[in-house]
Amino acid sequence: VPFGMRDVAPDEKAPLVGEVFRSVATSYDVMNDLMSGGMHRVWKSVTVDRMNPQPGHHLIDVAGGTGDLAGSFLARADSREQRQRPQAEAIVCDINHAMLKAGMDRSRAGRVCGDAEALPFDDRQFTHYSIAFGIRNVTDRAAAFREAYRTLRFGGRLFVLEFSQPPQDWFRAIYDRYSDLVIPRLGEAVAGDRESYQYLVDSIRRFPGPDALAMEIRQAGFSRVKYERMTGGVCVLHMAAKV
Ligand code: SAM
Repeated sequence: VPFGMRDVAPDEKAPLVGEVFRSVATSYDVMNDLMSGGMHRVWKSVTVDRMNPQPGHHLIDVAGGTGDLAGSFLARADSREQRQRPQAEAIVCDINHAMLKAGMDRSRAGRVCGDAEALPFDDRQFTHYSIAFGIRNVTDRAAAFREAYRTLRFGGRLFVLEFSQPPQDWFRAIYDRYSDLVIPRLGEAVAGDRESYQYLVDSIRRFPGPDALAMEIRQAGFSRVKYERMTGGVCVLHMAAKV
C-alpha cells in the first residue's frame, strides 16, 4: 500500500481496501491479539452473549474475515438444548477470498464472497446480522445498513461491533499515544506492513461517534437502536431490531 487511505478518492477506496486486507490476511489473527492485548476476544464474546444464539437461529456475519464470531455463535447455539429445534446456521460473508480461505476449516459456518453494500442473499433470510470491525471499511455505510435491514427477518437483530474513541479525556490521551506510537510499529515489526496499520489508526479517528452511528442505523429503518461501550469506549457495540 503506497499511501494512506486518507488521500484516496471515494471511488478508489474499495479496491484499495481489498489490497490492504490481502497483505495482512495471513498475520491477521496474530496482530489482532497483539494490538488489542487479547481484548478483541472479550469484545466478540460479549457480542455473542448479546446475540443469545439458539438452535434455529440463522446468522450472517458480514465482513466476517476468518470467521471467529460466526464460529463462536455456532458453538454457543450448539451448546444449548436442541429440543428438536433445527441446528443454528451461520454464513461468513467477506469481500476478500484470502480472508475467507484462511478461516475455512475453523467451524461449520458457510463462506460466501460478497460485498456488504450489495449482499448476495434474498430478502428476510436471517435472524441475526453482525459486522465486527468491518463497517469502518465500507464505503457506503447507508447502503450496508439498508442491506442488513433487507436480509433480516422481521424480529431479526443487528449487531455492529467497531472501534471508537474513548469519551474520557485522560483515557483518550493515553489511547491516542498508544495508537500513534505502538500500532504502526507493531504492524511493521509483525506484519511487515506499517501503512495498513497507520490506516487503521486514521480510520478509527475519522469514524463517526456512537450517537451519529446510531442515527445512521435508525435511518436504514431499524428500531430500538442502542449501544454499549466496552473497555472505556475503545470499542462500541450497536444493537438494533427490525420490527
Ligand atoms: N470480522 C472479522 C473480525 O472481527 O476479526 C474481520 C474484521 S477485518 C478488520 C475487516 C474485514 O472486512 C476484512 O476481512 C475485509 O475483507 C472485509 N471488508 C472490507 N470491506 C468490505 C465490504 N465492502 N464488504 C464485505 N467485507 C468487507
